[in-house]
Amino acid sequence: MKQEFNLVATAAAGLEAVVGREIRNLGRDCQVENGRVRFKGGVREIAETNLWLRAADRIKIIVGEFPARTFEELFQGIFALDWENYLPLGAKFPVSKAKCVKSKLHNEPSVQAISKKAVVKKLQSYYHRPEGVPLQETGAEFKIEVSILKDKATVMIDTTGPSLFKRGYRTDKGGAPIKENMAAAIILLSNWYPDKPFIDPTCGSGTFCIEAAMIGMNIAPGFNRDFAFESWDWVDSDLIQEVRDEAEDKADYDIELDILGSDIDGWMIELAKKNALEAGLQDVIKLKQMQLQDLKTDKVNGVIVSNPPYGERLLDDKAVDILYNEMGKTFAPLKTWSKFILTNDENFEKKYGAIADKKRKLYNGTLRVDLYQYFGQRIKRTES
Ligand code: SAH
Repeated sequence: MKQEFNLVATAAAGLEAVVGREIRNLGRDCQVENGRVRFKGGVREIAETNLWLRAADRIKIIVGEFPARTFEELFQGIFALDWENYLPLGAKFPVSKAKCVKSKLHNEPSVQAISKKAVVKKLQSYYHRPEGVPLQETGAEFKIEVSILKDKATVMIDTTGPSLFKRGYRTDKGGAPIKENMAAAIILLSNWYPDKPFIDPTCGSGTFCIEAAMIGMNIAPGFNRDFAFESWDWVDSDLIQEVRDEAEDKADYDIELDILGSDIDGWMIELAKKNALEAGLQDVIKLKQMQLQDLKTDKVNGVIVSNPPYGERLLDDKAVDILYNEMGKTFAPLKTWSKFILTNDENFEKKYGAIADKKRKLYNGTLRVDLYQYFGQRIKRTES
């Protein structure tokens, strides 16, 4: 089997650089592109990135890249790839996704069907199976994806399974939760460190608080779930166990954290508590029912992260205007605190009453949103 693979970590638009930083922190060089970050590595890196990347969507192996302007080119290009190095006899290998962008080939179902035929033909020939007799696909699953961008095909195998944002702690969604990997990315973009207080005053199901606690304790985000590659026969299960054991050793369960989530809705607080319990963080995160207008604190240098209701989504426009205005008034006295607010409202700054120090364009699912960033003032120490 192969020792080294060309890999990509896929990421939501706007989060690629965060994922790139995470991969470098794991000790791998990488190249940041639109929607994905490329890097190289073996099975260990596949395991480590799946387990540790907080902001990515999926880790995929690039089996090959080639020009594909016609179905014949696509078929031959796929047939020529070294499928025998990935797919054992008996493997299940759906071509689960085809995406064509700015390319001559644009019929995605046909791209899927042709790609499948090419892989089948290659395996029949490699494993000396008669043509015309379908391959038995009863074994582990290898999801194949074909993306054609400007007439260049990239053929990948997904190693992750359900997207990495599915950490396994969410018991119920509640109203409009933010994706776990987006929440983690925003905290990684903020200037929060585990020694600073953290508040999400519109915490809903508690996603930001749970992600902050996992970052603070250095808990691997994937510790509570499995990944597709773990069922592949050429993946050494001892190596996976080693990577999981190392993650367990790296976690710091004793660190003191000051993380508070509050929400006006008592039912959401109950849900947040259930999720925190599922993540094993019920004693780490404080959760209470409170309207954000009542937020007061004497603590300094903290970080507030909030994903308040947006106009069309949860509240009517007038109520949102009032809420953003009150938010501005409530946060203003907290001068040393940094505030990170995610909303799709383009007039947010006007309603909130202050111009952001920085804005970052992100996508919450398909909804374009901005992260409004207000940095806290540093307290100057008096020289003695
Ligand atoms: N990030 C959350 C979702 C937040 S949705 C998650 O991942 O689940 C916005 C939340 O703001 C809702 O839960 C809503 O109950 C809360 N909210 C609305 N008005 C509020 C107010 N005045 N004070 C505090 N919370 C409020």
